[in-house]
Amino acid sequence: MSACYSCNQILNKKTTSFEHIIPNSIGGVLKSARLICKTCNSAYGMTIDAALAKKFVDLVALMNIERHRSRPVNDTNSSNWDRYQLENGNDLFLRSVAKIAVNYYLTKVRGRHHLDKMIRIINGVEAIEDHIRYHPLIEVIWNDKEVSHVIRINGTASSGRLYAHVILFNTHSLVINLCNNYNGEDIDLFYRYDVLRQKEIRSTID
Ligand SMILES: [Zn+2]
Repeated sequence: MSACYSCNQILNKKTTSFEHIIPNSIGGVLKSARLICKTCNSAYGMTIDAALAKKFVDLVALMNIERHRSRPVNDTNSSNWDRYQLENGNDLFLRSVAKIAVNYYLTKVRGRHHLDKMIRIINGVEAIEDHIRYHPLIEVIWNDKEVSHVIRINGTASSGRLYAHVILFNTHSLVINLCNNYNGEDIDLFYRYDVLRQKEIRSTID
């Protein structure tokens, strides 16, 4: 049985939620019921994911990106999350991007102990410092008119590094330092989703 990676609540029919790996507000479609509970989903939705949605609201409208219809989840614990209101919007945005990487990793890899620090950062318990940062856009050969979100996660025990590279709308390129003492299996995960055509693109980026 899985537990919410944010608060450890056991996930069952009553407590679980469908978490979009990439927020639906920017066209993400992949989702999982094995990541976070309803309360945390709602809290993220009102805080860090709201900051991400706000950043792209004009772009999303311009591209007429479809969103799932969703009912708001009743939140009983919002007072726990008041600290988010004190932070600046960009920090919230960075945390939401890091959550994309954590979500994707946890749908592919069992066990989250390598992510403990990053989950504390996402939850505002630890400072971002340089663990989430903008990165010059790598040279990507985009298809004609492709507008994609890209997630790449690379981990090697020899380097001790587990990091993610997230690109949103071809333009916002961020690197998330997930773990500095990685000792798991070597992994190289890749996901590329064209939000305009609404389809996954299987080719990789070197
Ligand atoms: Zn939770």
